[in-house]
Amino acid sequence: MKNNYDVIVVGAGHAGTEAAFAAANMGSKVLLLVTNLSCIAMMPCNPSVGGPGKGHLIREIHALGGVIAKHVDESYLQIRELNESRGPAVRALRAQADKVLYHLIVKKAIEEHENITLLQAEATDILYNGHQVTGVKVITGLSYSCKTVILATGTFLNGKIIIGDQKNPGGPSNESPTHLLADSIQKLGIKIHRLQTATPPRIDGKTINFEGLRALEGHEHIQTFTGLSPRANQRNCYLTYTNDKTIQIIKDNLDISPLKLGNITQHGPKHCPSIDRKVINFPDKDLHQIFIEPESDFHNEWYLQGVTTSMPPHVQELIVHSIEGLENARIVRYGYAIEYDAIQGTQLKKSMELKSVPGLYTCGQINGTSGYEEAAAQGLIAGINAHLASHKKDPFVLKRTSSFIANMIDELVTNERNEPLRVTTSSSEFRLHLRTDNAEERLTKIAYDLGLVKQAQYDQTTNNHKLIQKEIEAMHQQKVRPTKENLAHIVNVLKSDGFKKPTSFAELLSRNEINYKDLEHFGHTCVEDPLLIRKIEIQLKYQNFLDKLKKKMDYSDHLDDMILGDYNYESIQGLSSETLNELNKLQAYSVGQISIMKTLKPGELSLIVNSYKKSSATSHCS
Ligand SMILES: Cc1cc2nc3c(=O)[nH]c(=O)nc-3n(C[C@H](O)[C@H](O)[C@H](O)COP(=O)(O)OP(=O)(O)OC[C@H]3O[C@@H](n4cnc5c(N)ncnc54)[C@H](O)[C@@H]3O)c2cc1C
Repeated sequence: MKNNYDVIVVGAGHAGTEAAFAAANMGSKVLLLVTNLSCIAMMPCNPSVGGPGKGHLIREIHALGGVIAKHVDESYLQIRELNESRGPAVRALRAQADKVLYHLIVKKAIEEHENITLLQAEATDILYNGHQVTGVKVITGLSYSCKTVILATGTFLNGKIIIGDQKNPGGPSNESPTHLLADSIQKLGIKIHRLQTATPPRIDGKTINFEGLRALEGHEHIQTFTGLSPRANQRNCYLTYTNDKTIQIIKDNLDISPLKLGNITQHGPKHCPSIDRKVINFPDKDLHQIFIEPESDFHNEWYLQGVTTSMPPHVQELIVHSIEGLENARIVRYGYAIEYDAIQGTQLKKSMELKSVPGLYTCGQINGTSGYEEAAAQGLIAGINAHLASHKKDPFVLKRTSSFIANMIDELVTNERNEPLRVTTSSSEFRLHLRTDNAEERLTKIAYDLGLVKQAQYDQTTNNHKLIQKEIEAMHQQKVRPTKENLAHIVNVLKSDGFKKPTSFAELLSRNEINYKDLEHFGHTCVEDPLLIRKIEIQLKYQNFLDKLKKKMDYSDHLDDMILGDYNYESIQGLSSETLNELNKLQAYSVGQISIMKTLKPGELSLIVNSYKKSSATSHCS
């Protein structure tokens, strides 16, 4: 067997590259296998990164020392903050990446990393000695040895491309699917199921009539994913709509839609339905938003967000030409759906390791998620843990109160899925705490202790935190006196209520109608950094809500600290046989994990908590 790696990563998509960088940055020798070097960090769907939930993941990956945020900041065509006018929990950045430049930037970063060996080779077999993975065999017949293996094969495993009544073997963007590895995974007794996702047609930019379409420009007043000021001269995206003609065309052809023909599994991402699915679900709705978005500065293909379909080509032509601005559009790639093998996440530990195959980790779309962001987040956790396991160290697990990453992983490894999981802000009841602006405060220290975040990033986070705490402390101390002039300004200019006794700057800022910079009028010396200002405003305006949330978070952490191991659930009186069966199957990591089981019946959690407390009390006495 050739060479001796710590970690072998199979797949250089968004999960695989993040995993490889994490393990390599922590010091592991990594072999990164990919079917085709042009598939590195490929964006087969919309090259958009971020948005509510997904943007939160990107910020958290950056705070934990991951790389996707930096690579997107180096390759975006446009960046905007979504939900600016709404509450801080749902504000999120969204970037339209240049998919060609993004691929090249990631490939170059991999090639330059001293601990990563990149190899174009299709993995065909996972080598397992019955106790532990030992290596990977590739299509050339060569085998490579290692201590841990990470599978990040996306939508390639037994991939099938569906357009109309045609269903043929194929990977994303017509790359070759991989079959042999799928067989090897099944031979290891790992449960496989079929999922699908789809993408819209791509249009030749010179055939789009942009006249009359609403342009959506990039934002320059925000900060990028890594805290930089956005560049000027960003590309525009454009907004148009379907109309009654579009909807009628789809209705007239639903019988030849793969959804009706049945040549596709029904399990696609609910959050990102095809236009066919939208017409089936909302037959009376004619107006659906369509975003026309550039994909790269290096070519003139445009993405039609909102027209995801795998209808036959002639129907796709009719649909596209019925939409304003696309009357003469030329389709350069037809929309398609892809069906692929995925594993049920309940077979995984929170470290992303398979419970049944020690040393084997999986991350990304193969685990039943959809999205570059979800894939990268899992890749980071899998990479960290493969490194730790290769060096005989304890696994790294995040609590649900720490991040959307932990919420996603908990959901994946706890509840079986029959559709790809997408992270949205509603994925966590702690979303007011898990904001995009405080990702560093929540996570960077953890990553610094792991050796994933460098001194400079850690120092900047701790300095910012000290600055904010010092400023908030000062604002509680300093008071505005109820002089005639001050009250006139508060009431007439800031449209806020007067006050009878000296009031702290902190109290004034907690009022909705007063902004931080307004306090300069009363002689307050404000900090200038817009990110620090945002953090100060959120902390003071939402303090009451955050205090209430803290209690819920403490209870969740309390349950997460109840580590289970091989727990005898039979000893718990009052549990239903179904729950008993599910608990024995899941072998949960903690009571916290049990608390999010969808099959749990009311009252059963407290039975488990009480039993846990009793058993740990008894074990302490004995
Ligand atoms: C048609 C389509 C539509 C999509 N629509 C959406 C959407 O609407 N919204 C959304 O959020 N996401 C969507 N996605 C998903 C998004 O592309 C994926 O979530 C993301 O790419 C997953 O990243 P990954 O790293 O898990 O897998 P991928 O990016 O697919 O990377 C897999 C990697 O594994 C490699 N590989 C596979 N098998 C082997 C092997 N045997 N040996 C060596 N290398 C191997 C491949 O070469 C590739 O590098 C879509 C994807 C497709 C294909």
